[in-house]
Amino acid sequence: MDKELRILIVEDYEDDAELIILELSKSYNKITHEVVDNENSLRSALNSKNWDAIISDYKLPGFNALAALKVMQQMNLDLPFLIVSGTIGEELAVEAMKAGAHDYIMKGNLTRLAPALEREIRESEVRHQRKQSAKRLMEQELLLRSVVDFLPVGIVLIDRNMNIIMANKEFRNTWGEFDSFNKLPELYIKIGDYESKKELSRKDWAIIKAIEESTSIINEIIQIKTSDDNAKVILNSVVPIIEQNSSSATYAIMVNQDITKLKQDETKLKQTLMELERSNKELEQFAYVASHDLQEPLRMVASFTQLLAKRYKGKLDSDADEYIDFAVNGAKRMQQLINDLLNYSRATSYKKGSEYLDLNILLQSIIESMNSLVAESCAEISISQLPQIYASQIQMQQLFQNLISNAIKFRRNDISPIIQIDCQRQINYWLFSVKDNGIGIPAAYKDKIFTIFQRLHDKDEYPGTGVGLALCKKIVEQLGGQIWVESVQHEGSTFLFTLPIENF
Ligand code: ADP
Repeated sequence: MDKELRILIVEDYEDDAELIILELSKSYNKITHEVVDNENSLRSALNSKNWDAIISDYKLPGFNALAALKVMQQMNLDLPFLIVSGTIGEELAVEAMKAGAHDYIMKGNLTRLAPALEREIRESEVRHQRKQSAKRLMEQELLLRSVVDFLPVGIVLIDRNMNIIMANKEFRNTWGEFDSFNKLPELYIKIGDYESKKELSRKDWAIIKAIEESTSIINEIIQIKTSDDNAKVILNSVVPIIEQNSSSATYAIMVNQDITKLKQDETKLKQTLMELERSNKELEQFAYVASHDLQEPLRMVASFTQLLAKRYKGKLDSDADEYIDFAVNGAKRMQQLINDLLNYSRATSYKKGSEYLDLNILLQSIIESMNSLVAESCAEISISQLPQIYASQIQMQQLFQNLISNAIKFRRNDISPIIQIDCQRQINYWLFSVKDNGIGIPAAYKDKIFTIFQRLHDKDEYPGTGVGLALCKKIVEQLGGQIWVESVQHEGSTFLFTLPIENF
């Protein structure tokens, strides 16, 4: 037999130890052994090597098998421990076995030693393997638990009788701590449907449906009252676990997320949005009413000051002529401002009057209507192929007219204006651009110019009211697009705006 044995012998008689080795060498062809006869030498032998087994005499001077057994146990070792003795009686043998010895053999019957040793070594291996797999299992469970505890969602595993098998940290954070964590129904202090705010009866709880009807419920929003009396909103999913060869659920897993803060923010946002819409409407209404109602008295002031100018010019002194001029110009400017403001406040609902427009045709007619301005400024205008869109003709006209007339108005003195109107299709929107070679816009004012009444120049230098770009922004944004400008001062500006394709 090609077997190797490493054996530690606790024995004070050399002859007896040799007898043991002699007996064992019948079964093992290679034996490593060491003989010790006191506690210290046993300890150092156990520390220095890995042994397959310990064979111990029952009684030695100043030492014995039970003390040797204790040393082995204190050192956390689980080696086969066999007692070989000539004197041991049955009572002592039983005591030794109770203390943890695996077998005892009479010195007169040593033929039993090898088979007993072999059996105990085998069993010790089995014990060792079992311990190893139990340890591995525990490690895996620990790992799984840490992962599950680390997750930002609450997880609970429940059996058919609603016993909680496992609940992670987040679950306890959400639902609150419970004295007894055994039965789930205790958690359901009050559950309500989030939308209807109605309390759900037990049979409608997702967890009951999963266990009793094997149905999954994914992402229901419920309102709960936790053990510490807090109201919370929860996004809840429950899945039944049906074992093989079973028709009903044995377990159910419930996963939930505390969305209380999210829902509170959502409600606040909705309220703010409603408030904003209301105040916007009020403001628009106010601008409309004010500009509309101001028109009439203003018309009176304008026409009477003009009449005054016509009748009395040169008939009063020169100061009076100048004052009348101021009044006439002021009234005219006020009329312009009020008209533009009225236009601005009228541009509210883009859906009203929307139709399919061929922008190529629309642009032609816009350019024709600006004929004299184009001729007088010697402007060159090129227009690339434009799409057909669904929008209000008046609004599209206002949009392009403002951009083109600005491109001509803000031209440089030294060169005649060159204007390019272009459109490119992007994935889900059209990108329009109106490019000029004019005076350009300082970077600091790129956003400001889209605010109503914001102008960068004096009205005597460049006439205007500062409403045009604000109106363009309103029109584009109502259609779901965006408008901005790219510009190099003294070289020119490109006004770009997008219009979503799905709108048309
Ligand atoms: P308005 O043309 O009546 O002054 P807008 O709202 O159309 O008002 O434009 C606001 C300001 O933006 C203008 O006063 C001008 O300073 C600047 N601006 C607009 N278009 C251009 C352009 N194409 N080139 C340079 N500056 C421009």
